Amino acid sequence: MKSSALFIKLQKHMEKYKSKVKHNELSFNEEDMSIENIMSKYNLETYYEIINSSYGELDDEVNEDELKDLKNRIDNYFRLYAPDDEEFREFIKIISLYLIFIAKKPLHPPGIKFSNGTMVYKKDDIFYCTGKKVFIKDELSLCKYCIARIN
Ligand code: SF4
Repeated sequence: MKSSALFIKLQKHMEKYKSKVKHNELSFNEEDMSIENIMSKYNLETYYEIINSSYGELDDEVNEDELKDLKNRIDNYFRLYAPDDEEFREFIKIISLYLIFIAKKPLHPPGIKFSNGTMVYKKDDIFYCTGKKVFIKDELSLCKYCIARIN
């Protein structure tokens, strides 16, 4: 599949979250530096990028096996940690596929610090994750497809 076709598909799927995002936006706290809040902010920014961008000129070829495998990994993650939150799972799936295959950005934003002290940062336009070498060993880890480089 061409990345432009994938983007149009993701953008269309994202349309259904418009009213929900508008509602959640009101409870968003700019001062809170917790991982949960940083991720909420990143997801929100990514949501607007998807809704407002035009990527019609994209021409990369998206590997269908990787696409399928990533979706399975996200399903697995939610099965373990939030089995009842189907709507949020599908939202995160759109965000993740967009970040990896279209925007080429990491799944966690630069500046985030994990509980084990590792972090994500950007240097000379390249994203690095100091936790990737550990997290990637988890079963069905999403890090496998994240574009952040190991450091
Ligand atoms: S490599 Fe893994 S932990 Fe690091 S940003 Fe990507 S998904 Fe997050």
